[in-house]
Amino acid sequence: MNLNRISKPTFIYTVLFLCVILCSSNVSYGQGFFRKIFKGKDKKANTELVQENTPSEVAVIVPTFSLENGIEDCQHQEELASLPEAYQRINLNETEQCENVVEILDGKFVDATYLTGFDYYSSWDNWNVNPYNISSKVLKDSVDLHLYEEGDSLAWAFPLDEKRKVTSKYGFRRWRFHHGIDVKLAVGDTLRSMFDGVVRIAKYNRRGYGYYVMIRHKNGLETLYGHMSRYLVRPGQEVKAGEVIGLGGNTGRSTGPHLHFEIRYQGYAFNPEDMIDFANHEIIPPSDFTLTAKNYELLIESKKNVYHRIRSGDSLWKISRRYGTSITKICRLNGMSKRTTLRVGRTIRVR
Ligand SMILES: [Zn+2]
Repeated sequence: MNLNRISKPTFIYTVLFLCVILCSSNVSYGQGFFRKIFKGKDKKANTELVQENTPSEVAVIVPTFSLENGIEDCQHQEELASLPEAYQRINLNETEQCENVVEILDGKFVDATYLTGFDYYSSWDNWNVNPYNISSKVLKDSVDLHLYEEGDSLAWAFPLDEKRKVTSKYGFRRWRFHHGIDVKLAVGDTLRSMFDGVVRIAKYNRRGYGYYVMIRHKNGLETLYGHMSRYLVRPGQEVKAGEVIGLGGNTGRSTGPHLHFEIRYQGYAFNPEDMIDFANHEIIPPSDFTLTAKNYELLIESKKNVYHRIRSGDSLWKISRRYGTSITKICRLNGMSKRTTLRVGRTIRVR
């Protein structure tokens, strides 16, 4: 095209027109300057409920929320009835989750420069604590995380309002690896999201976490809050740091009111005490935090292959207890059955 042939006003109008298109497109909308201009509009358009199979809305960075967990949540009504009265209150959003509705989120709010929308949503579901499917080899790598902006809304908040005692640490426990820490609380205590993010899971797990919430934060971390008496958010909901997400409780595999708290990066949990001091009510790291193999030391150790040489008097039960694993796991690792005779002097893999 020869620019000399186009008259000056036409050229100016064309440039102006292109600017308008660019400003209102998704690309510029979610980032910095333009986002601020459109902020008012952004809030209104954040979430919308649409019927399943809405065709064009689902783009790469837009999550759709399967109903699988919602259906599961509906099925636990009987279990709910068997709980002590304090826990019988139906969760706020239970009925909504059971409806045949898929929530579509506006992908534009993922505006952190260090995280693209695709990174944020490429592994996303509402039921797996670790949906990433990434090899544990990455645990040996270091990664620089930008946790929050100083003095910005993307700050951090303490999950509990008061100083609380850690009653069980992260790491090896008698039966299995403890991926988080247990913090003492009173039933009904307010639980808050540690950073800004989007609720990925809010569901009930009778034999495990009880009522629990998992949030994916914009900084790439995920936090999990277990054994709640009730949750107050639902999958797909955007939350700010400090926003109330549920109430403390004693549901699931729990012997007393406590918060089971996990921090994960790409599905792998590291010690929350590397970041949070519950006893002194402090968050330790600066806004830039480097996650290294040191943070995953115990987890890496737990994934190493460990072998045991069978001695007389050994039984699968004894061995499983000694190594903090289960008979089923040992059988699977060695391709044997529970009835296989253990021969003295042989070596079996226990982890
Ligand atoms: Zn725990």
